[in-house]
Amino acid sequence: MRCISSLLLLPSLAFAIPSTNHHGRVIFKDVVVVGGGASGTYAAIRLAQENKTVAVIERNDRLGGQVNTYKDPKTGAPFDHGVMVYGNDTISNNFFSYLGVKMARFSGHIKSNAYADFSTGKIISAATAMNMTGNYLTALGSWRAQLDKYLWLSNETGFHLPETIPDELFLPFGEYSAKYNLGGLMALLATTVQNGYLLQTPTFYMMKWLNINQSALKGISQADGNNQAIYDAAQAKLGEDSVFLNSTIQRITRFEDFVEIVFSTPSGEHIVIADQLVMSIPPKLETLDFLDVSKHEHKLFKQFSSKFIYTTVLLNTGLSSEQVIQNFNPQKGTFGIPYSAATAAFSPSQHISSAAFAQYASPYSQTEDEVKANIFADFERVQKAFNLTSPHGTKPILTDFYSHSPYFFTVPEESIRGGFYNKLNSLQGKHRTWWTGAAFESQDSAGLWLFTEKELLPRILKA
Ligand SMILES: Cc1cc2nc3c(=O)[nH]c(=O)nc-3n(C[C@H](O)[C@H](O)[C@H](O)COP(=O)(O)OP(=O)(O)OC[C@H]3O[C@@H](n4cnc5c(N)ncnc54)[C@H](O)[C@@H]3O)c2cc1C
Repeated sequence: MRCISSLLLLPSLAFAIPSTNHHGRVIFKDVVVVGGGASGTYAAIRLAQENKTVAVIERNDRLGGQVNTYKDPKTGAPFDHGVMVYGNDTISNNFFSYLGVKMARFSGHIKSNAYADFSTGKIISAATAMNMTGNYLTALGSWRAQLDKYLWLSNETGFHLPETIPDELFLPFGEYSAKYNLGGLMALLATTVQNGYLLQTPTFYMMKWLNINQSALKGISQADGNNQAIYDAAQAKLGEDSVFLNSTIQRITRFEDFVEIVFSTPSGEHIVIADQLVMSIPPKLETLDFLDVSKHEHKLFKQFSSKFIYTTVLLNTGLSSEQVIQNFNPQKGTFGIPYSAATAAFSPSQHISSAAFAQYASPYSQTEDEVKANIFADFERVQKAFNLTSPHGTKPILTDFYSHSPYFFTVPEESIRGGFYNKLNSLQGKHRTWWTGAAFESQDSAGLWLFTEKELLPRILKA
């Protein structure tokens, strides 16, 4: 706080502070972090470790962003249905051990996969599915060879691109997979939220997302299946003077010498004055209406497109706790990946009898009611096809619904070739603002932490 407090004594700033014209509590911090998901929480914890005072402004009633842990109301048993698994790398492990959270190998309890076309309810045999996708190990070897060709993309933080980018990186991933025999990877990918648009995603972004670290290391997760515990521990470490939940930001103004954020929480209005701002929320113009967006930022952010992801829990499914039922498209050339908006799979809980989670992806935005109705209709077809019966006297119930949209940020090929990412990188530090989050790296917690660690922290600490 040295810098801000000393600045407050300067006459040149005397007029700037009262210009807020607000009656809220004024809080002075070194760094204010907007968004308390994977990247914002990590940045805040690391800055606090480096003796910076921080404030995290989060709109939800908890930190953690895309982590969702359902708790059984009777037993309290946790069931993760958002983020499942983290990289088993040094940076992630340092973070978990500082927080004192017990992690364990993510082994999973699932013993087998069954397949059905959710749009028709037709069961697809495992042999047919395997025939259409191909061998997993062969595909994995082939993917590693592809990643090795483009290490500047697959194994580096952020986007630091060469002047010329090979044409094949702009092939839709479906075509790239056919060219390099990657079909066997699809069965694995299809159970994730990439389902629904994977075939059209430019390979450029798949290389970044499905990187070497992710495919080479066995993942870990919170030992009891409660990934929310990681972020609850982070909240406790940061302390109540530093974490502002249920926040609605009214305005962010970036002055030459400091940043001012005006926001409200259920306890009233607050103003944070800070030296530096870390923005970890999606950089889409429609989500940044409270920010004094510069012309340069506007020009870049308007180029981002994204997808739409939702996750929920179904109770009373009648599913066995050991078998996933996966949505499989039987059309030729799809490697089983459902083409449009679709539920990826019904994945049962180990500890909550008859509960399963469903993640749903869409290339376009849908209302909560539409998504719920689609998931429910998919489940009814699956229940009928597999002859599943809800436990005695119950019916399937959908609960704990979340939208994680916008998700998976891309820009068009012309933008990438035209130097979009160099221009995006040049935003770092301008207007006292540092950008992190999936749009600047990829949708992968460990990747985001490494990005924050390598590309942001040293510069923020020097600023
Ligand atoms: C269903 C699902 C499963 C996933 N599984 C995995 C997995 O197993 N392993 C993995 O590594 N990654 C996984 N991911 C990806 C991973 O969760 C993301 O890459 C990561 O969470 C992105 O972090 P972030 O900080 O960019 O965004 P987020 O985690 O989304 O954080 C952004 C935060 O900003 C807050 N916010 C938004 N707007 C405002 C505002 N106006 N004011 C204040 N706060 C605001 C949000 O509430 C949120 O908390 C999964 C994602 C989803 C959706």
